[in-house]
Amino acid sequence: MKILFTASECVPFIKTGGLADVVGALAPVLAAQGHDVRVMIPLYTAIPKKYVDKMTHVTDFEVTLGWRKQYCGIELLQDNGVTWYFVDNKFYFGRPYIYGMGGDEYERFGFFCRAALNALPLIEFQPDVIHAHDWQSGMVPALLKIQYAHFPFYANIKTMFTIHNLQYQGIFGIKEVQDVLGLGDSLWTNDKLECFGCANYLKAALVYADLITTVSPSYAEEIQTAYYGERLDGLLRARKHQCYGVLNGLDIVDYNPATDPAIARTYSPEDLSGKADCKKALQEELGLQVDADTPIIGMVGRLSNQKGLDLVDYIIGDLMKEKVQLVVLGMGESRYVNLFSWAESEYRGRVAARFTMDSALAHRIYAGCDMFLMPSQFEPCGLSQLIAMRYGTVPVVRETGGLRDTVLSYNEVSGDGNGFTFFNYNAHDMLHVIQRAMKYYNGNKEIWQLLQKRGMSGDYSWDRSAAKYLELYRGMIGEGELRDPSEPED
Ligand code: ADP
Repeated sequence: MKILFTASECVPFIKTGGLADVVGALAPVLAAQGHDVRVMIPLYTAIPKKYVDKMTHVTDFEVTLGWRKQYCGIELLQDNGVTWYFVDNKFYFGRPYIYGMGGDEYERFGFFCRAALNALPLIEFQPDVIHAHDWQSGMVPALLKIQYAHFPFYANIKTMFTIHNLQYQGIFGIKEVQDVLGLGDSLWTNDKLECFGCANYLKAALVYADLITTVSPSYAEEIQTAYYGERLDGLLRARKHQCYGVLNGLDIVDYNPATDPAIARTYSPEDLSGKADCKKALQEELGLQVDADTPIIGMVGRLSNQKGLDLVDYIIGDLMKEKVQLVVLGMGESRYVNLFSWAESEYRGRVAARFTMDSALAHRIYAGCDMFLMPSQFEPCGLSQLIAMRYGTVPVVRETGGLRDTVLSYNEVSGDGNGFTFFNYNAHDMLHVIQRAMKYYNGNKEIWQLLQKRGMSGDYSWDRSAAKYLELYRGMIGEGELRDPSEPED
């Protein structure tokens, strides 16, 4: 099959969150199965020079945006069986940030979507499927159906749109979007592009994509309810027969405690002894008291309200009365930076917080901690809990979205489980579950090790997810049956 991914970020070139991991890992897995997979992302200045130096220029052309004509270069890099294209325009992407600050996001990503579609005949690639990711690519399915589908070149291209996070929708003024994308007045009704008086790039994709997916089966169900639906639950319910949940995998080569060069000593489920060295090294590195018997709770992720940090704020005093250490790595909202900076000085030697993007440190935290806390308010999939499990770090999570689909709470009677979970968004429920986990950590090493080993031997590879995506791509182009996602799976 011929598949084009469009996305705003992708590892190893540029990353702010899980979206980049998904695009960067899924594409090579599909390519390894013999498919022609190409990925298109913007050429940001933040993409490291070592990649830019390897790129070759394919073509350039002008993209019309309202009255403006903008240069668009297509640069190419072949790696890992995948053809990676970079959409070049210094005015839009030659800035010291990736998202958010210029007030012209509608134009930057409107340009990106238009450029991606215009480039296809010029690079002589006619995909069977365009798989667009998140709101920055949301106008790809919409523009394709509205403005391109009557050209023979585009007529048979199917589109899939994946929601990695429904909270970010790309909401702008209608006039501004009309101005750059030339979408006539008749399209701005609420069954098409209009959304509560605004333009909304994510909604546009949900209306026009042939299939919708999101990154876990539970999140696919949850977003059809008012609590999780971010005001789009009605539309998602209307499209429930085309809305699938496909769980993410992990880059199991990069995240492998048996070979990881970033950690103090490697280890495996058969021999966990190296993990104690990783813990000691982490305590030394972060200025924590070096103590093998004090459990370290780790948190790695964006410091955003999504991640349930208000719950941690609420009980941090009670939590620190326990014999426990806390390590936080993340960037984000200042209220959480303040919270953890305060905690670090208040509980010196027991709390460490770092507010940088540091992948090697993240690896050392996953390896060196005993527990991994993820009390998210909502969680489309969550990669961090999977990485933690792969490193034998026992997850303590809230039962929502992908966390619910990947972490099963330890059941004393049946012996099942690979972590600890709580259901209500409630700080004391979370605290009690952390205390429950600590009871096993302190008092029952055998069960603790069993949970660690179960986590480490789980199947987090991309193969399973890639097979599901392929089934959906095939169904879209009429080469296979599509099961109704609103019916229970066999
Ligand atoms: P989201 O996509 O909501 O940000 P995920 O759990 O799906 O959350 O993915 C987050 C990814 O980003 C994980 O691989 C995590 O380790 C990584 N990450 C988040 N913040 C940092 C940071 N400050 N330094 C290094 N890695 C980080």
